[in-house]
Amino acid sequence: MNTSAAEKIDIQKVESSRIGQVDFNNLTFGSAFSDHMFECDYKDGVWQNPKIKPYGPLTISPGAKVFHYGQAVFEGMKAFKDEAGKVWLFRPEQNFLRINKSSVRMAIPEFPRDIFFEALTTLVKIDKDWVKPGQGNSLYIRPFVIATQVGVSASPSTEYKFMILMSPAQAYYTGDIKVIIADHYSRSANGGVGAAKAAGNYGAQFFPTNLAREKGFQQVIWTDASNHQYLEEAGTMNVFFRVNDTLLTAPISDRILDGVTRKSVIALAKQDNITVEERPVLVSEIVEAAKNGSLKEIFGAGTAAVISPVNAFSYQDIIYELEKQEDGFASRFKKELTDIQYNLSEDPFGWRYEVL
Ligand SMILES: *Cc1c(COP(=O)(O)O)cnc(C)c1O
Repeated sequence: MNTSAAEKIDIQKVESSRIGQVDFNNLTFGSAFSDHMFECDYKDGVWQNPKIKPYGPLTISPGAKVFHYGQAVFEGMKAFKDEAGKVWLFRPEQNFLRINKSSVRMAIPEFPRDIFFEALTTLVKIDKDWVKPGQGNSLYIRPFVIATQVGVSASPSTEYKFMILMSPAQAYYTGDIKVIIADHYSRSANGGVGAAKAAGNYGAQFFPTNLAREKGFQQVIWTDASNHQYLEEAGTMNVFFRVNDTLLTAPISDRILDGVTRKSVIALAKQDNITVEERPVLVSEIVEAAKNGSLKEIFGAGTAAVISPVNAFSYQDIIYELEKQEDGFASRFKKELTDIQYNLSEDPFGWRYEVL
């Protein structure tokens, strides 16, 4: 290609920013959006007309396939501002590769690398004031793709819209988390779409999660769909178990989302000489470890909350409490990860990506 994507992105800026109307000390996660958004359409076999424009509603036919067949994928990533005012992304290459992997599984055409990065960095630069400095503050970035072809015939869409929205976020305190180990419902199945960030995976989780909430639990720990014997993910996060000083987590498969936080925690643990076992984790061994006191911690890992310690879990109506760990693995990995993200520490793995 001779022309760079930068030259091709059409930019239309807002006349006046809405930033003054946003209370940055009182944000509900994902509910306020920055001034601009990115949009690019797939038509006649090519991604075309990339543009940045004021954030606002879309006009889409109710016959668009996304509304009928859920052909949609998304990503979640964050931008951070350091004390010197520089803005960084965290491992954005991973999100780029993953949205395309998700798209392939959902029969959506892959998005070009040059437009992805140009769109991302241009958008963050334009809305840089929406990234607030200070630990816990970030700009949550939501790339997604929807099927826009009009027609309710059950076949893949021939037209799509790729978009990026950005939402200012504060530290995400989940509070005490009690989880229930799934023994009936499933998040994903062998050969299914669990490894893709497909919109419908979330929709399908809401009902069983509501049932767990009614019983006083915040999240569900998903188990394998065949026998509910293996622990796989916690809500919308990957899950880790610390038994004595060994870290256990399910291996990546077509049922597990290959989380960026998960793989970063594994790399940090290995660097700290902590034994990590990526292998099928039996419900029975964790119940046993809880009974004999060797289960020290359970925590979820994902971009939004970074690391979420679990305080208790329920399995077959018995509740197992975990002792609070002030200097446990969860708080250690959270600090190590966020120190890299906010440019407060060395970056031995090359995970930080400078935007400006
Ligand atoms: C997005 C997601 C995760 C976490 O992935 P990160 O890249 O760490 O944010 C874990 N599990 C599921 C099901 C997810 O959708």
